[in-house]
Amino acid sequence: MKKSRFFAAVLAAVIILSAVGCSKENNEHNEPPKENNVVLTPIEPEEPDEPDEIPEISSPESSPEEEPQEPEIPQIPVPEDRSVLILVNPWNYIPEDYAPVLENVQGKYNLDEKAAESARNLVAAAKEAGFNMLLCSAYRTVQKSAELYQRKVNEFLSAGYSEEAAMTEAAKWVAPPGTSEHHTGLAMDLVSSDYWSYYSDLEHDYEKFDSFKWMYEHCAEFGFILRYPKDKQEITGITYEPWHYRYVGVEAAEYIMENGLCLEEYLELIK
Ligand SMILES: [Zn+2]
Repeated sequence: MKKSRFFAAVLAAVIILSAVGCSKENNEHNEPPKENNVVLTPIEPEEPDEPDEIPEISSPESSPEEEPQEPEIPQIPVPEDRSVLILVNPWNYIPEDYAPVLENVQGKYNLDEKAAESARNLVAAAKEAGFNMLLCSAYRTVQKSAELYQRKVNEFLSAGYSEEAAMTEAAKWVAPPGTSEHHTGLAMDLVSSDYWSYYSDLEHDYEKFDSFKWMYEHCAEFGFILRYPKDKQEITGITYEPWHYRYVGVEAAEYIMENGLCLEEYLELIK
């Protein structure tokens, strides 16, 4: 009894299932072929996904790979006379026997003969643009740096700093003797006369003056860079100095300024 019931049930199930299957098949066959495709939609996502992704990935990969990567290394310009790239900073002292051949730029201020003419041309071009640029420092001997540094240390001492703290603080403003870039004869401090008549000192506020903006934009054309940018203080070891420009030659200067580098970063790139 049980067996026959079971078979009956199985038979009934088979009949029902095959009927359903048939009716489905019939429906599919009866309806327009389009629906057939709709039923097969699980395949669809694969079709658009694959071709969409492949061109997206391959096209940006293939073109930049050919362009920037190959010329990038030779594109970094290096001056023929590498002596203009001398690095003097808190960790690199000027060699003791360093003695640049000096040439006058303005008033009592001299620079290395390799930079002097460019400096004069820069000042002249600024004047044509309406800015009367005044040098306040150029080549400096180690002896002079020692005096300036000691003066700054004394300021902090009289403000109540300990000797050690006074020396550390002073070094943030005046490079200790031997570490000043002014020893190279390739660096100068300059601001416009309108600024100087108000402040009579070198302050970060100078960046607000139009003459600074002009200098920032045009210094590289004359081979100079803004040597101590605001966002590079950790690398240069010197606080932001919107008045201090350093000669490195036109090509290197343009590369450095266009790429927002400091000298330390540039030297690392061309090593
Ligand atoms: Zn300076």
